[in-house]
Amino acid sequence: MAGTIEERIEEILRALKGRHPGQEEFMQAVEEVLVSLKPLFENQGEEDYLGAFSVIAEPERVIKFRVQYPTFGPEGAELHTTTGYRVQFNSALGPYKGGLRFHPSVSESIIKFLGFEQIFKNALTNLPIGGGKGGCVFDPKGKSDSEVRMLCEHFMKGLYRHIGPNLDVPAGDIGVGGREIGYMYGEYVRLKGQPDMGVLTGKSTDFGGSKLRPEATGYGLVYITLEALKKYNHYRYLPEERRAGVAENCFKGLKVLISGSGNVAQFAAQKVMELGGQVCSFSDSTGTITSTEGFSEDQLKELFHLKNVKRGRVSEMSTAEGLEYHAGKSVWELGLNCDIALPSATQNEITLEGAKNLAAGGCWCVAEGANMPTTNEAVDYLKTKVDIYIPAKAANAGGVATSALEMAQNSARLFWSSEEVDEKLNGIMTNIFATAYKTAQEFDRPWDLQFGANAAGFLKVYKAYKAMGYLKF
Ligand code: NDP
Repeated sequence: MAGTIEERIEEILRALKGRHPGQEEFMQAVEEVLVSLKPLFENQGEEDYLGAFSVIAEPERVIKFRVQYPTFGPEGAELHTTTGYRVQFNSALGPYKGGLRFHPSVSESIIKFLGFEQIFKNALTNLPIGGGKGGCVFDPKGKSDSEVRMLCEHFMKGLYRHIGPNLDVPAGDIGVGGREIGYMYGEYVRLKGQPDMGVLTGKSTDFGGSKLRPEATGYGLVYITLEALKKYNHYRYLPEERRAGVAENCFKGLKVLISGSGNVAQFAAQKVMELGGQVCSFSDSTGTITSTEGFSEDQLKELFHLKNVKRGRVSEMSTAEGLEYHAGKSVWELGLNCDIALPSATQNEITLEGAKNLAAGGCWCVAEGANMPTTNEAVDYLKTKVDIYIPAKAANAGGVATSALEMAQNSARLFWSSEEVDEKLNGIMTNIFATAYKTAQEFDRPWDLQFGANAAGFLKVYKAYKAMGYLKF
């Protein structure tokens, strides 16, 4: 195809938009990768990376199904209808793999953006997994355990015929944790009439789950950040008076802002604190809770209980010990000082204004726990202001990597210890950083981990598709 690279990029976006109208989040995710890969396209030589991109950006399959589930209130039973989604985006590297999201904001566009991101993230792990994502509109807030179970079981009734250990292996995401995976697996076994542990990951360790899967995304986020701190020698960024007491290559004394208070946020906070860092915020969709000196271990335990057992709001944390609650505010609106930001709630939570607040508050490292938590214009701004920016595809890959380790254990019918899984997770995160860093170096962009991660993930999928004959007449 003729035209400059810019013109071809415009044309790919225009064509995709025409085929997927009104899907803003999906277009945003595609544009982010496409534009970031310009240095690769400029050096494509005999290859047609741009042509391949337009193939890879089209999902292999989009499945939509009706989900009807009952709830039981004081007025009697009620039947609800919602749409279930599973986007089987890319199988170049293995069975489709990616989580299920139950949240009021779910739409086809959001599931496609997540599935698209998942392709490159999964490629970066170097494990044999393709990309997929799914979910449905559902608000778990205030729902009883049995209402959640009803939704999970009826969702699985629509999904079960499309998944399997060698075909598509869903896991959790927002609104889907160990409880929901358990209910869905139970229904899958009932429908199929036989157990098949490899069909879902994120299961309890009581019936086939991997040790450390709940911790994996948060721990992995911290492991890769640590790699970046080592590589880029973070000491340089600390004022002289703050260097004393900061153990080499460690989080000790560093102020960390975390958004969200779910799975990723909780375990990222636990690992940061274990390494001596100060976690100064958590949030949910109703507000933010902050601590100037950093949350204590007891306060973190209270948060775990509040979110995982009581299923309450961060506003219910006891504010007696120096905590402050900011109703209706996100972490990034508050103008707080920090060294490191770990956005771990949801997409587009850091806008340009939030990015400016971070830069003004002295932040020098942003590592994304959530998927696409930063708008494209905020990413562009942050890359000129902070020294280390680790995009979600690299930074939060620990979850899916450990899901792939769960698949490996299930098919080998054995279990590894927490120590074994942790060592493998740490190794995978170290390797992801090294791959993104090396790719960035090769293109003479030593600080550009956004480019490094996107290019390395894309090239892996490109090579597989090319070898499979998908890119030629
Ligand atoms: P959880 O459901 O456990 O927690 C989500 C947290 O984010 C909650 O505190 C929730 O608050 C908050 N949140 C969700 N939506 C919004 C919103 N629109 N505005 C403000 N806050 C919001 O999900 P996870 O921790 O699993 O997921 C968090 C992010 O990490 C997501 O982007 C997910 O895709 C990504 N991720 C998760 C992985 C995993 O293994 N779990 C793996 C890789 C990425 P509230 O309760 O009020 O809704």
